[in-house]
Amino acid sequence: MIDSVLLALFLPCLGMSAVFIVYMCLLWYATTRHHPPGNALPVKQVADKGLSSLELEKLPKITGKELVLGTECAVCLDEIEGEQPARLVPGCNHGFHVHCADTWLSNHPLCPVCRTKLDPQIFSSNIP
Ligand SMILES: [Zn+2]
Ligand SMILES: [Zn+2]
Repeated sequence: MIDSVLLALFLPCLGMSAVFIVYMCLLWYATTRHHPPGNALPVKQVADKGLSSLELEKLPKITGKELVLGTECAVCLDEIEGEQPARLVPGCNHGFHVHCADTWLSNHPLCPVCRTKLDPQIFSSNIP
């Protein structure tokens, strides 16, 4: 008599526990699926990407004889001839061959000599 009463109470309890455990498993599965482990954070920052061709065109363009801080191009280690077109890094006034500057600056937004960062502000204002 007592046994059957205990059984009648115990069985629904067991059923509820089973449902609860299955529910918790599904919940855990759903949350872990939405947040996969690993390096989900972006490694590269947007500020570190190079200049676009449009931005490169806004950099001052001069010739070799106008260079004030030496005529050696730090990218190709060659001399910038007096009549050769060169690009100037605004701020530090270091000059490089146009194609050398464009190659470097399209990958790194900083001066290859002194590591001066190119101020994004110069691209929003007009340089005479
Ligand atoms: Zn060069
Ligand atoms: Zn520089």
